[in-house]
Amino acid sequence: MVLENLTTRPRHLLLILGDQLDRDAALLSSADPGRDLVWMAETQEEVSHVWCHKLRIAFFFSAMRHFREELKELGWQVLYHQMEREADSAANFADFLQRDLPRLNPEGVRVTLPGDWRVLEMLRKACRDSGLPLEIVADEHFLSTPASFQAWAQDRKSLVLEHFYRDLRRRLGFLLAADGEPEGGAWNFDCDNRKSFSREGPGMLPLPLAFAPDTLSREVLDLVAHRFGDNPGTLAGFELPVTRADSLAFLEDFVENRLDLFGPYEDAMWSGEAFLYHSRLSALLNVKLLNPRECLEKAVKAYSEKRARLASVEGFVRQILGWREFVRGIYWHYMPDYLEMNALAHQEELPPFFWNGQTRMTCVRESMKAVLKYGYTHHIQRLMVLGQFALLYGVDPAKFHGWHMAMYLDAIDWASLPNTLGMSQFGDGGIVGTKPYCASGNYINKMSNYCGSCPYAPQKASGEKACPFTTLYWDFLDRHRETLAENHRMGFQYRNLNNKDKSELREIRERARYLRDHIDRI
Ligand code: SF4
Repeated sequence: MVLENLTTRPRHLLLILGDQLDRDAALLSSADPGRDLVWMAETQEEVSHVWCHKLRIAFFFSAMRHFREELKELGWQVLYHQMEREADSAANFADFLQRDLPRLNPEGVRVTLPGDWRVLEMLRKACRDSGLPLEIVADEHFLSTPASFQAWAQDRKSLVLEHFYRDLRRRLGFLLAADGEPEGGAWNFDCDNRKSFSREGPGMLPLPLAFAPDTLSREVLDLVAHRFGDNPGTLAGFELPVTRADSLAFLEDFVENRLDLFGPYEDAMWSGEAFLYHSRLSALLNVKLLNPRECLEKAVKAYSEKRARLASVEGFVRQILGWREFVRGIYWHYMPDYLEMNALAHQEELPPFFWNGQTRMTCVRESMKAVLKYGYTHHIQRLMVLGQFALLYGVDPAKFHGWHMAMYLDAIDWASLPNTLGMSQFGDGGIVGTKPYCASGNYINKMSNYCGSCPYAPQKASGEKACPFTTLYWDFLDRHRETLAENHRMGFQYRNLNNKDKSELREIRERARYLRDHIDRI
């Protein structure tokens, strides 16, 4: 615990959570280092309510400890509950607050709106129990607010990303020509952004920036190895930026070395290449070491200086200004009910290879290799490989969300839930996406080189060599005919299913049953 020179009762206790490492936050700019006390805590519950990847725990704790030091240098007094190697740690925020609030006796408690409904409720209860007011401060890191999303969403029949994105782009003026119309004459350039690599693959790729762990990080790595040694993943890939300065260098490196080719190859996959041209900025954005506005401005500047093509820059802007803000709006609009949604009534557990990567399916094995080593995969591996397998197999969407929260560095509840339960698993029945994201193994074959070294054949739907994705894809359409066949966006898929004769369908169903009975062996 770090607490120096606190001689008087603090006015406000300023709670800063692990995903709120924003030194420009309104919580701090509206406070007084002489009268208010910053409060941070590493809790057992936050790293164990899901079975967390070791790297995820290390990333959060290291970034938090570095932020603590930065705040102290800026003159803040910080009460920091640090998890130790041997000592017991209080279970959750409420436990710590129950101990601290009576002895510190602040006039009130303030916190930036948390990114997790569960944590918000916990803090509210802890303060209620202590008889202290809790003030929720707006999170100015984002470019829209839950209230502005609410205003945009009300009276709309459906919530369409494209409409939200265009509104926000117009309002904030990103990538607009002088006449106020979209730069380049179109709002999106997706048709330029679906390239796969030729047989030769991506060739030489720019090496990602790596940051050797400093003393603070090494202490955290030791703690995690000691206390969480049985958790999934490895600590060997800990070369992450955990400070504001390193995060800015990481952003600079992406804009200079990868942004230009990010767009064309954003959906491509290649064995052994986890990062390709992707930015990996999401974890830094989501813990607030980077600000979305500065990321957008740097990318747009690269376009205006002809260092990056428009299709790439627009794709990047769409991810941050469009999708990221949209899913946060969805989260606060529908929580807490969203967590309970399960439109397809899927109930399966996650197959074991989601934790250890042991499977013969090359695409899943390659994707899991990246998850276990980096706590990361790019969006197509998430959506069309791992997410799609869970969907076709019928995993309970809340469990898939829990797995994603455990295994990815960038997973914060507001970002993860609409992406996993909604977009990936169609658990919300069409709020985020109008149809389930599903395709046969042929899609993965088109976008990667995985199938060439796989014992399965992407075109085959039945028999021993059948690609599990292809079998389960047809079986999925067949099982959910009643719910999905009327969806006008699935007409093509159902016409293809209806063209299959009875014996073909019977063989697919048999193979699907076999896969389900032998899921630990495929
Ligand atoms: Fe994946 Fe099927 Fe291709 Fe194998 S054949 S890599 S399981 S898509």
